[in-house]
Amino acid sequence: MSTVVASGLVGELAHALDGPFHVLLPDAFTANLTALRDALADADVDGFVYYAKKANKAAVFVERAAAGGAGVDVASAAELREALGHGVRGEHLMVTGPAKDTVLLRLAVTHGATIAVDALDELDQVISLVLTGRERPARVLLRVLPDAQPHSRFGMSESELTTALKRCLEAGDAIRMEGFSFHLSGYALQPRADLAARLVEQCRKARGMGLEEADRVSIGGGLPVSYTDADSWHAFLGTQRPSHYHAEKAFRAGDFYPYHSPVAGPDALRALLATRPEGSGSTLAEVIREAGIELLLEPGRALLDQAGATVFRVQGVKDRDGYQLLTVDGTSLSLSEQWFNSEYLPDPQLVPHQQGSSAGVFPASVGAATCLESDMLTWRKIAFPHPPRVGDLLLYPNTAGYQMDSNESPFHDLPLPPKVVIDRVDQARPRWRFDRHFS
Ligand SMILES: *Cc1c(COP(=O)(O)O)cnc(C)c1O
Repeated sequence: MSTVVASGLVGELAHALDGPFHVLLPDAFTANLTALRDALADADVDGFVYYAKKANKAAVFVERAAAGGAGVDVASAAELREALGHGVRGEHLMVTGPAKDTVLLRLAVTHGATIAVDALDELDQVISLVLTGRERPARVLLRVLPDAQPHSRFGMSESELTTALKRCLEAGDAIRMEGFSFHLSGYALQPRADLAARLVEQCRKARGMGLEEADRVSIGGGLPVSYTDADSWHAFLGTQRPSHYHAEKAFRAGDFYPYHSPVAGPDALRALLATRPEGSGSTLAEVIREAGIELLLEPGRALLDQAGATVFRVQGVKDRDGYQLLTVDGTSLSLSEQWFNSEYLPDPQLVPHQQGSSAGVFPASVGAATCLESDMLTWRKIAFPHPPRVGDLLLYPNTAGYQMDSNESPFHDLPLPPKVVIDRVDQARPRWRFDRHFS
């Protein structure tokens, strides 16, 4: 991103687009995908990566997943259509989500996608779709309700799983039962290793019952991303208090995303594979290998690490007691973390539109160009190194994972920020295009 800023392109784009915009760096996505694959190969684990599409709506990441031979994890008919339309093969789709609608299930069956079945009635529906439509067998995983998160609304309990396995057997050729899946919230490795090992065991049992294709375990997403170093993070957590925020706003430390993670992304996958599941003398990698299992992953955030940034222009500067209040030309709908009793903590970079302003510490909070009191992009008083001025740009780093567009809407009739793709950064003058052509 620093190369892009140094090239002057960000300022030019701000001038041309005349509003906030997102910058996408798909090479970072491809590099993250390669690094995850390397982690699997180094541990000698047979695996397959599905990009969890909900983390960003851009087409380019799906295109990169397709080009890289990865799959895509979708949860709606529209996401499925998008993935197919941008080049992902049907058999490389994973369909997740609770109580999937009939259109989605039918498309999944027709295109040979894997369906992570979340409930018994859903399994029945899949079986009857295949039988009545004289379709090819539906490929299913059974999603498990984790012991560690018994209040989750996703997945099936132990007794439901027993029933599901029986129904899969009875369904005969209508169903290809390929294994089990889970998705845990949080980032702890041990519970993931424990549950993965338990599901490897379940695959053995299912095969013993005659479901011979049961040889896959999906561990979902939840590979952490580290946005900052340990010292900055712990110093921030240890000192943050209401006086550091506009309007004395109080945030609970526990509500922040863990912006520092000691092991993240591909390293977290390596660490997971090296973890010994409870009660096992072997590592998870060994357990998986010995049972002849294929490990499936559905990372969203981890594939998007460093794959984008969001740019706003300062359109107003107001003095308050000891700090300034900036108003930018967009809204916090483009920075989704602001909608979860939380705050996006990576500091925006100030890109002055004219050089030569004084250096020092200039605290300022960042508000949106809307009439909502609570629409703040940053409540925190950021220590800017120069006095922010109207026309300067604020570049929020690393926003591709979940920040950009989960919540965006044309509030106040403001247009949605366009997405600018920079395919090749390592050039003296980076070239850009829009993510989609306007129709
Ligand atoms: C959201 C989700 C993911 C992706 O999670 P990340 O934390 O972005 O890696 C994967 N699988 C399922 C089922 C999900 O709901």
